[in-house]
Amino acid sequence: MITDDARERAVALIEDEGLPAFVYDLRALRSHAASIREALSVPGAPELYYAAKANAEAPVLRALEPYVDGIEVASGGELDHVHRILPDARLAFGGPGKTDPELASILRLGVDCVHVESPYELTRLATLARETGHEVDVLLRVNLAGRRDGVALAMSGPFGMDPEAIESCREILAAAPWIRLKGFHAHLASGLEAPEMLQQSEEILAWARARLDLPTPEINLGGGMAVDYSDPGRLFDWTAYAKGIAELALPGETLRIEPGRAMSVYCGWYVTDVLDVKRAHGEWYAILRGGTMHLRTPVTKQHDQPFVVIPQNAPGPATTEPVTLVGQLCTPKDVFARSVPAGRIAVGDIVAFAMAGAYAWNISHHDFLMHPKPGFHYLNA
Ligand SMILES: *Cc1c(COP(=O)(O)O)cnc(C)c1O
Repeated sequence: MITDDARERAVALIEDEGLPAFVYDLRALRSHAASIREALSVPGAPELYYAAKANAEAPVLRALEPYVDGIEVASGGELDHVHRILPDARLAFGGPGKTDPELASILRLGVDCVHVESPYELTRLATLARETGHEVDVLLRVNLAGRRDGVALAMSGPFGMDPEAIESCREILAAAPWIRLKGFHAHLASGLEAPEMLQQSEEILAWARARLDLPTPEINLGGGMAVDYSDPGRLFDWTAYAKGIAELALPGETLRIEPGRAMSVYCGWYVTDVLDVKRAHGEWYAILRGGTMHLRTPVTKQHDQPFVVIPQNAPGPATTEPVTLVGQLCTPKDVFARSVPAGRIAVGDIVAFAMAGAYAWNISHHDFLMHPKPGFHYLNA
C-alpha cells in the first residue's frame, strides 16, 4: 500500500523533523499510467486526456505526459500553468463560467478543443474569435444528467447543455464558420466502475451519433473512473473498459476520455506523525501533526482515508483499540478516519495516508489555523 521508496523517505523525514509532507512516487505514477496506456492500446480504444484539476503539480504533469494524448484544463489558471509546464501538449479546455480573459487565452494559446457549456458562451466565443481573427475547434457539452438513474454522483446542475440548448447552437454555428463543430462532450458522473462506465459511454455514443453528421466526429466520454478508498488495491478495470469501447467504436470516429482521479490518486501519500493518543468519552483518538487543511479529501468524500502506521517505538501513550485519526484543527470535522482498526498506534509513530495524489492538497483550505505548510517530495523523477 506504500511503496518502499515512499516509506523510506517518510522515515528520513521524521528524523529531519520534516513532517507533515506530501510524498509522491513518480515511478509508481509512471508505471500506473503505462498500464492504463497498455490497456488503451487496442484498436478503437479511446484517446486518453488527463484532467489536470485532479493534480496539476509540475512533476506529476511531466511524469504523465508520455502516457497521455493530451491534458484537459478547466480554468485560465490551469491553462497558463499546463501550457508553461508542457508547451507541446494537446489541450482541451472545459468548465462552466468561462470569462472573457479565459476565452482570449484559449484563442491566443491555440487550445486544440474547447468544450462549450452554453449557447451564450458559444456566441461570446464566436464574437471574440471573429474579432481576433482566430479559428477554433469546439465540442458541445451535453448534459444528460437529468435522465440518470441510480448513479451515486451525477454531474447534474449547470454543467453543459440540455439537448434543446444543443439544438439552438446549430444556428450560432451556421453563422460563424470560423468555429468548427467537431462533436460532443459529456462528463456525466464520477465513481463509476468499468461496466457502469461502459453502459454510460454507450448511451452517450448513441445520443451523439444520432445528432452528428460529420465525417470524422469526436466524442469525449468524460472522466469519473472509480477508485476505491476502502481498498486501494482494487483498480478500475481499464482492460475491460478499453475492450468494451473498442467494440462500440465506429470507423472515422475519435473517442476520448479524460480521467483525473483514477490516474494520479495512487502516487501520493500524506505523511505525518502522532502527537498524542488519548481516550475521550470512550473513544480513542490519535492526534496527528497537520490536518485536513492539508488533506481535505476524507472530509469532502466522507470516507476513511486509507493509511499505514510505521511504528517508531517512542515512549508515550498508545492504543491497540479502534481509533479515530484527527488533525490539529479546532473543529470536530478535522477527521481523517473514524474508529478504524490500526493495530497498535503510539505517540511518535508515522502515519502515511495513501491515495493522496488527487484532489488532496489542491482542494484543501491551507491557511485555516495557520499551521506550517507541508513539505513536497517527488521521488524517482
Ligand atoms: C473533474 C472532471 C473530470 C475528471 O474527473 P475524475 O473523477 O477526476 O476522473 C473530467 N472531465 C470533466 C469535465 C470534469 O469536470
